[in-house]
Amino acid sequence: MRLPCLFLFLIYFKHGTYVSCRFYPSSQLMNSEIHMEHDAYRESLFTNRFIKHQILKSKIGHIQSQACFKVRQLGSSVQQREIYQLTIGTGKIQVMLWSQMHGDEPTGTLAFFDLFNFFAADDQHNAFRKRILDNCTLHFIPMLNPDGAEVHQRRNAQGIDINRDFLKQQSTEARLLAGLQQNIQPEFGFNMHDQDTLWSVSGSKKPATISLLAPPADDEASITPGRLKAMLLTAGIYQVFKKQIPGCIGRWSEEYEARAFGDNFQRLGTSTVLIEAGGYPGDFEKQYARKLTFDILLYALNQISTQQYAKQQLSQYHQIPFNHKELFHLLIKNCQINNDDSNFTADIGLNYTEIIDLEHHKHKKIYTVADFGDLSTWNAYDVFDADGWAMATSLSIGEKPTLKIVDTQGNILVMDQGVMV
Ligand SMILES: [Zn+2]
Repeated sequence: MRLPCLFLFLIYFKHGTYVSCRFYPSSQLMNSEIHMEHDAYRESLFTNRFIKHQILKSKIGHIQSQACFKVRQLGSSVQQREIYQLTIGTGKIQVMLWSQMHGDEPTGTLAFFDLFNFFAADDQHNAFRKRILDNCTLHFIPMLNPDGAEVHQRRNAQGIDINRDFLKQQSTEARLLAGLQQNIQPEFGFNMHDQDTLWSVSGSKKPATISLLAPPADDEASITPGRLKAMLLTAGIYQVFKKQIPGCIGRWSEEYEARAFGDNFQRLGTSTVLIEAGGYPGDFEKQYARKLTFDILLYALNQISTQQYAKQQLSQYHQIPFNHKELFHLLIKNCQINNDDSNFTADIGLNYTEIIDLEHHKHKKIYTVADFGDLSTWNAYDVFDADGWAMATSLSIGEKPTLKIVDTQGNILVMDQGVMV
């Protein structure tokens, strides 16, 4: 249903200020217990979110020559791209980590390659990495859905959502993942995803930069022995990382999804943790989320190798706030709206969608009006406080606005049919 239009004419701001909404200082958000420097291990081949199979394959070719890794081709995607399994460590605890079963969700893959660099290094952290590798055997499946990654889409080349294909296993990628779990029978699993940047954390109204979940194993969300371990591990992650990004860690929905892998692996006894990388102010390329993911995985693997996770309290898991949607990409506050019928003040919430040109590695944001009126209970990545001055061409929900805002300090917000110029 189309909502009533607001007729705005010329936007003119008297005291408006364009405020880039930075919730947190840029800081060295290192895990206080492990103090690893992510930059030292960041895989330099991967600089943005649009990682493709060809470059991943070239990096794996290099890794293959390193003695500490066992690399094998697990199988092939529908379009015959290689899907790899990388194994490292000699410990008794089997851990399986897989990423990018949704092709447009690459953050886990990026963090995996940073972890590979970490585990291959020989430096002052040798004792730390040795403890993990002596106690655990880590099985990584980076980029389970290379065909989807190639065109930056969620689904595989058949159009199947792999994470809704556990029961029928009509996709070759789902069969590979299910088969590996069956062969290894891992004690722990890490299921890596990216989530919509519009998810916020209930209570804080900040972006859900990381969402965690110990997926349910049944409709009743029973606390099975395996799920209990995943819940305790998740509780530990939350307790440590909530201090580093306060208000930015949420919990994904606990609704049971009978077709999903995480829920089924939990049911099969693999203590599975879902990690969803979300938005963060200024982190359009997800590089900060990548670093957080790296830190979280190292923390979790250390907890597993030392069995420290078992000392966490279950109540701490239940303290993790759920995800919510109280966030826009851009919020123009306190606009004075003058049209033929009335004069009033309104806030305007705008969200963007991305237009991606994979061939030329370009992408642009198209903003549309998501809501207007009293949006004082909402937050945004960027807030422009119009301070009572506004006017523009007609606006309506879903419209790509054309507007120009200037404040007395000379800050200008110009948008042409939804494109910031
Ligand atoms: Zn996903």
